[in-house]
Amino acid sequence: MDKLIYLDNAATTKILDSNREILNQSFNDFYNPSSAYKQGIFAKKQLDESRVKMSKLLGGENGKFIFTSRATESNNTVFAGIKLRQGQKVLISKAEHPSVYLAAHRLEESGITVEDLPLNSQGQVDFEKYKKMFDKNVALISVMHVSNETGAINNIKQLCEFAKLYNPKIIFHCDGVQAFGKIDVNVDELGVDLYSVSAHKVYAPRGIAGLWIKNSVQLKPLLVGGGQEFGLRSSTENLLGAICFAKTAECVVRNLETNNAKVEKNRRNLLDLLQKSDVKDYFLVNSCESQSPYILSLSFDGIKGEVLANALELDGILISTGSACSSKKAGNRTLEAMGKKTSEVVGSVRISFSAYDDYDVKYVADAIIKNVLRLMKNVKK
Ligand code: PLP
Repeated sequence: MDKLIYLDNAATTKILDSNREILNQSFNDFYNPSSAYKQGIFAKKQLDESRVKMSKLLGGENGKFIFTSRATESNNTVFAGIKLRQGQKVLISKAEHPSVYLAAHRLEESGITVEDLPLNSQGQVDFEKYKKMFDKNVALISVMHVSNETGAINNIKQLCEFAKLYNPKIIFHCDGVQAFGKIDVNVDELGVDLYSVSAHKVYAPRGIAGLWIKNSVQLKPLLVGGGQEFGLRSSTENLLGAICFAKTAECVVRNLETNNAKVEKNRRNLLDLLQKSDVKDYFLVNSCESQSPYILSLSFDGIKGEVLANALELDGILISTGSACSSKKAGNRTLEAMGKKTSEVVGSVRISFSAYDDYDVKYVADAIIKNVLRLMKNVKK
């Protein structure tokens, strides 16, 4: 089949063409930024320029940006690196990506209490319940900016403000992997202490990511060794990746509004076509008031998400299931915390858009409608 429509951009994105030039240049500029000769010094300059660019794009005036290999590492750095005492408490949202969720819960082995923050029905941290979870032991909080499952946007500023008023010593981390380059991000305005980002979600290559760290935060490194990245992340720097990330992020942030308008239009058109179709009664849209336009989460009652995703693949459309392992026991922590029924969880699919692709939305809608109606017939039999 010729047609291939990639609608799984929350998983990873196609690398922007502008990266080719940087990749080609790297065959000549391959030097180690720690080397003392002039080629090394130039490499260091390029690295620092990329670092400054990232900090500026994130709006962080009083902090530093360190490059890591992936956001999973950035998130793990936070939970391994913040000094916590037995009896202290960590709060994380129920919707966190496993790289936050598991890294946080692992702290329980060291006598740290880790509590999950409940979600409201729209998939955001429930602010009223959040306020009730505070006591003097809360030391670290981690809430994602945009959910990778539903696209719901958390009100990080409000959550962070409340925490800091309660106790200014509380450290607030935000996983911004699905937010940076897609919605407005300004770490100073949000008030956060730590913010994780990843290149491959914003059209740059894999193997490079980062963590913005407020100057006041004391962090122990996850990787020790040569002392690179202010001693916070040893290992010879991925200069090529850093340049690609910063340049691509600059372009993406500059075009944020145009990109969002384009993506929103595609999302809206797809929804409209589905809403006008015969499958109207069956699908359920998870749409939060504060919603990333990049993610559309749907659930077709009675149809397994993975069966629909497989059927769509045969029509050349690549999407992902909301429930990672729906045929087995594992469900979907986020959707379950939103109060969705098991059938809705098992039936959920995630469609995620790119701002740098033109979609035949009608083709996608027709394929979904055709497959859902066919699969529904089997369900009714
Ligand atoms: N956090 C969120 C919200 C994500 O969506 C992902 C990837 O899907 C990650 C963290 C992990 O990012 P990486 O693949 O760079 O390790």
